[in-house]
Amino acid sequence: MTAADITCPICGSAMRPTHAGYVRCCPDCGFLASTLVPEIGGGSHEHIDEAARRDSLAGLRRLSANEELDRLAKLGRSGGRLLDVGCAYGWFLAAAEARGFAALGLEPDAAVADEAEAAGLTVRRGYFPEAVADDAPFDVIVFNDVFEHIPEPDRMMRVLAERLAPGGHLVINAPSAEGIFFRIAALLERIGVAGPHARMWQKGFPSPHLSYFRPDHLARIATAAGLVERHRSRLPALRAEGLWERLSYDRTLPIPAAGAIYVAARAMIPFLGLLPPDIRLMIFEKPA
Ligand SMILES: [Zn+2]
Repeated sequence: MTAADITCPICGSAMRPTHAGYVRCCPDCGFLASTLVPEIGGGSHEHIDEAARRDSLAGLRRLSANEELDRLAKLGRSGGRLLDVGCAYGWFLAAAEARGFAALGLEPDAAVADEAEAAGLTVRRGYFPEAVADDAPFDVIVFNDVFEHIPEPDRMMRVLAERLAPGGHLVINAPSAEGIFFRIAALLERIGVAGPHARMWQKGFPSPHLSYFRPDHLARIATAAGLVERHRSRLPALRAEGLWERLSYDRTLPIPAAGAIYVAARAMIPFLGLLPPDIRLMIFEKPA
């Protein structure tokens, strides 16, 4: 795939360059894709304070995990074989195990996988689907902040439909292009303030975002793969607790900029429920 020639994985149209050189937009469906290159395992962690990142994410991730498991239970899914793709430190795995799932995590970063394993969780090192080829089918496959990092999301959706058991569920928790923070960042980028937009795409991070989906984009490729949408909602994008740590673990962000974002974000928290959601939770089902 070259930067100049990207076919939209959602609708098949030719994507066009945008003001930000590393982002392409589909003129027909509005899907956004970046040309950023992942370096997982390449060891470019120097931009990130990893311990601070882990601690700042933990609270929000645990809340999201319980919300996702509640939603699955409402769909009649309260046990079975579960795969968490990109399980990181295992927050979701631990919550799923506590509810009776046989949970397997998949994590490409060996140091992170070691920590999850030390906490007593079952973790495989590597990538989906190769590293778990012999473990399919699964009753539940979960992508928490992972699907937006995957190349060829349409192809991935077809592979997922194959690896799910009949009646199985696919859970995707991903940042949304309709979100208020993303829209503000895109607006700022157009007037020359590029930092927040680059941060939303995780430009310069080991694993940048390759896609920014709206819910209808995910629904379209899931439907094309033979899955049925069963749930769509929002997840909290921000909590006051851990917010400063979340901003400051990015060492590429100057402290005054991080401070300004912190003040603005703190002020917005009470109103976020009224604004377009920055994180979407979607659950799809493979027909039995
Ligand atoms: Zn498109």
